[in-house]
Amino acid sequence: MTEALGLTAEQLAAIGPGALALDVADGMIENVIGTYALPFAVAVNFVVDGADVFVPMVVEEPSVVAAASNAARMARPAGFTTQVSPPLTIGQIQVTNVRDVVAGAAALRAAADELLGDARQLVPRLTERGGGPRAFEVRTLATSGPDGGMLVAHLHVDCRDAMGANLVNTLCEALADRVAELAGGRAGLRILSNLADGRTVRVRCSIEDAMLAAEGASGSEVRAAIAGASRFAELDPYRAATHNKGIMNGVDAVLVATGQDWRAVEAGAHAFAALGEGYKPLAVWRERDGGLDGELVMPLAVGTVGGAVHVHPSAQLALAIADIGGRTDRLAAIAGAAGLATNLAALKALATEGIQRGHMALHARGLARAAGATGELIERVAAELAATGEVKAERAREVLARMVKESP
Ligand code: NAD
Repeated sequence: MTEALGLTAEQLAAIGPGALALDVADGMIENVIGTYALPFAVAVNFVVDGADVFVPMVVEEPSVVAAASNAARMARPAGFTTQVSPPLTIGQIQVTNVRDVVAGAAALRAAADELLGDARQLVPRLTERGGGPRAFEVRTLATSGPDGGMLVAHLHVDCRDAMGANLVNTLCEALADRVAELAGGRAGLRILSNLADGRTVRVRCSIEDAMLAAEGASGSEVRAAIAGASRFAELDPYRAATHNKGIMNGVDAVLVATGQDWRAVEAGAHAFAALGEGYKPLAVWRERDGGLDGELVMPLAVGTVGGAVHVHPSAQLALAIADIGGRTDRLAAIAGAAGLATNLAALKALATEGIQRGHMALHARGLARAAGATGELIERVAAELAATGEVKAERAREVLARMVKESP
């Protein structure tokens, strides 16, 4: 890997013990008393949008890297394909105590171009880079109540290569008074929304049955079981939460490695999952003839400038390993692919365990019958074989003999 990517020993020192110097750590947050190391690993076998990629991962949980690598091997023939939306982050300006919310909202909508123009002037460099404020929207939240009439203005900002929290917060701060004045109310909170539903990644993969087969389970059985597990998550928020946790295992590991604000992505992911009717899985799996198709859609606000990216030496190395060539959309695509991969691995493990258990139970019944058990003894002998894990003909004969002897 180091040769393929042309990484130097100097670059690799960025993940050596003590790579994060105390003075750098001290500059990152407050009251620093030390640094905290986590394992840095690389998941392999990934093909994302036609290109091989090493996926940097930082995570404390065992099996995540192996699971991602195994699933990426299953997906490797067709690879992961992605679509990443433009990097649009929403800034919110809350207005409370609005005398007339209908008139206030109308006044804001009428002034949208003026407000967008003001916002653009505040970020000339971003606009030069092809980003900047794109749209202005107004939502009515309450017509009366403890805070009076309440409106919220949404400023949609193309943040280019930045995650954009500070950038958007600054814009919201600057516009708040004018927005409140136009709406006829009082300026409230002004901060980005982490429900970044305008900044999504869509990842697809397609797995052939032959790649899904496992010991004791055929490819088509595993395929059906994974599709069934997906339907379970689509029907039940209790399952969907765990399904999504499996996705975030892969996503977060990439985000931590590359110095991203993973709490922001977590908050956005779960809020996105809860948009619409009930909490839903971020990835679903469908059977097709001879294989399985998976699709993940989730918000993924990442940046290759700003935040901790340039401060933390290991984050820089992680970006070099992912070989994103400075492309923020590529980082989002890779993090999303890692999430779909860990989801697939988790579902396959759960599904095959179930199939194997089912096969074992069937096998145990067959052995009980072969040993001469009849009636209710078939189930009793099979249950004991399955419970002890010794699903063998000889053991079936012993268990049956003992049960017959013990029976009154
Ligand atoms: P930042 O404050 O470091 O600003 C990034 C800056 O990079 C921009 O202001 C821009 O001037 C500059 N820049 C240079 N090249 C650029 C390019 N090609 N594209 C875009 N900008 C470019 O970072 P940020 O992204 O504004 O904010 C991210 C930070 O804010 C993270 O540390 C995050 O943890 C934190 N934060 C998050 C939240 C939240 O998610 N709720 C709230 C507050 C702060």
